[in-house]
Amino acid sequence: MTPTASILSHDRRRLTVRLATPRGFCAGVDRAIQIVERAIEKFGAPVYVRHEIVHNRHVVERLKAMGAVFVKELDDCPDDRPVVFSAHGVPKSVPATARAREMMFLDATCPLVSKVHVEAERHHAAGRHIILIGHAGHPEVIGTLGQLPSGAISLVETVEDAEGFRRPGDAPLAYATQTTLSVDDTAEILATLKRRFPELPDPHKEDICYATTNRQDAVKRLAADCDLVLVVGSANSSNSVRLVEVALRAGARDARLVDDAAQVDWAWLDGVSTLGITAGASAPEQLIEALIDAVRARFDAHVVEDDGERETVTFKLPRELTA
Ligand code: SF4
Repeated sequence: MTPTASILSHDRRRLTVRLATPRGFCAGVDRAIQIVERAIEKFGAPVYVRHEIVHNRHVVERLKAMGAVFVKELDDCPDDRPVVFSAHGVPKSVPATARAREMMFLDATCPLVSKVHVEAERHHAAGRHIILIGHAGHPEVIGTLGQLPSGAISLVETVEDAEGFRRPGDAPLAYATQTTLSVDDTAEILATLKRRFPELPDPHKEDICYATTNRQDAVKRLAADCDLVLVVGSANSSNSVRLVEVALRAGARDARLVDDAAQVDWAWLDGVSTLGITAGASAPEQLIEALIDAVRARFDAHVVEDDGERETVTFKLPRELTA
């Protein structure tokens, strides 16, 4: 028997693959990517993009090949080319600077992130101090903090932070959350805050978005039956990293984040009879399809798509691109 034949006969064992639904692109990511694509179509290359438009390596590489130039700050952009702000949102100072420089800019901030910004402003205007539950340094958190003057918002990352939080002065309190957090971790943090500050509204209205919630629910439904769950997504994608944690907590024996099929170490599948597959909100469906093809090439795979919620949310593109 040739080595190849030996590998094939050994590896093409039966494998049940459970495909989470919903998975992959959300409406905010889809809109942000379309904004860059349409901007390149309409204004020609290069179009500058401040920060990775969405946290996915493949998406960023594809847009780079089309003529997008990704930069960290506005200082890295010339005045005379369009610039797109990423889906995660930006501090107020960013569009203000772009206006002062008379730059053409397109804001790809997800409308659900903008909604959090508006709520934070409303609380501030009503004299409340805001507790923001989120991850320090994440661009969405930087953007939300940057909607208000320094000191108006306190960041709380963990239950321990919630226990240690001290109210500055005697202002009434309100809270907001990053959109891509773990629903369960956030509920725990909110319960801690609510116990300490009963005046806070009941924790029923977190800002965790529909896409994050639905993808976490979908992975919870299949995790307990899976020996391994593969989450397609990049390491800097908050909602993708959360899916790995949720899968493990919901009973998967193992869960791993992979950018694409090439990152799978097939030894992970030794002894696996049920494999779960899902993808973060910034991961394109083609990567999931390629992963399934790679699984089929090695196993006698029986793919079952879970019967989850079919999402119908869409967001409009900015007028500058549709007029
Ligand atoms: Fe918007 Fe949620 Fe998608 Fe983020 S994950 S872009 S908040 S829909």
